[in-house]
Amino acid sequence: MSCDGCTVAVAGATNPGIEGLLLGIIPTMPKVILHHTVLSVESGEEFMKPMEDAWHGRLEDPYVIVAEGSIADERIAARTGGYFSAMGSTVMESGDSAPVPTATWIKRLAPGAAATIAIGTCATWGGVPAAEGNPTGSMSLMDYLGRDYRSAFGLPVINIPGCAPQGDNFTETVFAVFLFLQGLGPLPSFDELGRPAWLFTETVHRGCTRAGYYEEGVFAHEYGDKECVVELGCWGPVVNCNIVKRGAINHMGGCMEAGGVCIACTMPGFPDKFSPFFKAPPGGIISTTASRGLGGVIRRLRLLSNRKGNTEVRWDVLDAVPSGWGNVEAPSIPLKAVEFFYNKWQHWGVKAPGRPKGTEERFWGADRPGTSSDYLDNSSAREDVRDGR
Ligand code: SF4
Ligand code: SF4
Repeated sequence: MSCDGCTVAVAGATNPGIEGLLLGIIPTMPKVILHHTVLSVESGEEFMKPMEDAWHGRLEDPYVIVAEGSIADERIAARTGGYFSAMGSTVMESGDSAPVPTATWIKRLAPGAAATIAIGTCATWGGVPAAEGNPTGSMSLMDYLGRDYRSAFGLPVINIPGCAPQGDNFTETVFAVFLFLQGLGPLPSFDELGRPAWLFTETVHRGCTRAGYYEEGVFAHEYGDKECVVELGCWGPVVNCNIVKRGAINHMGGCMEAGGVCIACTMPGFPDKFSPFFKAPPGGIISTTASRGLGGVIRRLRLLSNRKGNTEVRWDVLDAVPSGWGNVEAPSIPLKAVEFFYNKWQHWGVKAPGRPKGTEERFWGADRPGTSSDYLDNSSAREDVRDGR
């Protein structure tokens, strides 16, 4: 029960890329033979044979199963003699052949697998096919196999959620698990829901490039604005996902980078607990109100510091900015006073940069106003500057 989006996402993984596994060119990684409903070139019986062999214990090497899509409750379909999702066929007592539900294949293959991995939110938590109103009784791989499930190597189901997931999250986790399965590394750290802990502990918000706007209490009014989109419906502050840190593909893109809101697609409660997607999360009203109050003050104070840092020391001394691009206003008296006290505070207890008071000013022209052309044409002044006089 999937859209193949997870497959597309993994095909785009770059760090590491899946082709490295298939070619066996990555040090410490075994060469992998992939049987995949979309990517394999075999079809019919040739495609089904490795699965039959794995089921009957005829494979010489360990195998890993990766489930993409949620598992339909085939008992519902069976009531009317049908099926929701199937691979291959079997010959029944009557002599007719009937499709084998995908769920049956999972039951056949999961116990003997070295590891069982769920990719994407449909397989990890049920996702869209399991949302309210679904007629299929769809569920996650965990729900289907139950809490007592362990792979042949003793691992519960490994979950890499996302709709679609970040492709490198999958390949990186597979690599870490392969190191463990070969006895070359420790078991990677997973959280209590079987997610790679190093990828899903932090919230989207903590890595979001718009988080600075949130902190300063500035929010987008409509899509396309550059500020924080929480009031347009972003759930990032309470969602475990790393896509804004890692990018969607090859460190580019990612939901907020592309201008969207976080609809919490990596979360077990997705989609029902985060709908409707076009409304702001109710809890956001408290934090955005607080940010508007405190952040409004902080933002203005930062503007002062930003202005201070945007001028050369030389310009402060000469009281002029020699920019040909536009007029830079001289700071007002109150602003100069603020900067003076800020400097004192900044260098309190430490030596401030620059020469001690009373020594000769290093900027020629501080008390001898002249134009830049005067300066350039005056070779003795240049020598003065060069020689530190
Ligand atoms: S856009 Fe969402 S994740 Fe980013 S800062 Fe705003 S609320 Fe947080
Ligand atoms: S930021 Fe939100 S919507 Fe985007 S991938 Fe992560 S969880 Fe899904």
